[in-house]
Amino acid sequence: MSTVVVGAGLAGLAAARRLEDQGEEVVVLEARDCIGGRTRSPRDLLRYGQPADLGASFIDLGQDLLLQTCDEFGLALTPRTTLMPRDPDGSFSVASPLRGPMIIDGAVVRPTEATALAEEVRTATTASPPLAVETIPAWVARAGLSDRAQRAVLAQAGGDPVSTPWRVQMEVVHPPLVGKAYRYHRCSRSALSPSFPPGKQTRCYRPRCRRAAR
Ligand SMILES: Cc1cc2nc3c(=O)[nH]c(=O)nc-3n(C[C@H](O)[C@H](O)[C@H](O)COP(=O)(O)OP(=O)(O)OC[C@H]3O[C@@H](n4cnc5c(N)ncnc54)[C@H](O)[C@@H]3O)c2cc1C
Repeated sequence: MSTVVVGAGLAGLAAARRLEDQGEEVVVLEARDCIGGRTRSPRDLLRYGQPADLGASFIDLGQDLLLQTCDEFGLALTPRTTLMPRDPDGSFSVASPLRGPMIIDGAVVRPTEATALAEEVRTATTASPPLAVETIPAWVARAGLSDRAQRAVLAQAGGDPVSTPWRVQMEVVHPPLVGKAYRYHRCSRSALSPSFPPGKQTRCYRPRCRRAAR
């Protein structure tokens, strides 16, 4: 054995696979009793045994290596889809999500108010164009939005699970890429980790549910 990879998340499994392809002997050590790290899709939580993605789910534009890996493993993906309504001109913007169902202060926002908030935010993007590297809180303050509109937009900062909300930048919620396309694994995201071939030299530390998550 010449290399130890710590962690059997997707990064560790991909690294181990690449090293093995180069002829290295690899051991993957995983602290949990499952591989897959932050991708996990148990089938015992929902009523009819559907997989519940508790971690990563979407494959976004630009995740080409991920798409390539799915392709290599023959994993079926859904067609590209969008997750939010479009603005009236057919585009996506930081205002688009406000046109869908929304809860503020524990109460569902009425469709007429949601439309008004979306229009306010859309107008503000023209009057005060967001900078890609500007944080959402910074733009919201600069654009002078009403209190309700501010709160609706700031809520989007919490939608990025791997960032500190006040650091999420406008490029995450505003064009050119936002809302354009997502794909999913047909069965679940956690289909990916068990697909990494264990290889002759790769041993996971506690691989008790290696196949169970499929
Ligand atoms: C709720 C949620 C939703 C997400 N949605 C998406 C999404 O839609 N699309 C997307 O692309 N990404 C999404 N992500 C992010 C994505 O899940 C991660 O970027 C990705 O899974 C990280 O993979 P990784 O291998 O780098 O790390 P991890 O998956 O965190 O794997 C690290 C592994 O290392 C193990 N480990 C850590 N320390 C040790 C140690 N000392 N010894 C042994 N083992 C150790 C851990 O137990 C873990 O299994 C989401 C994340 C979360 C939490």
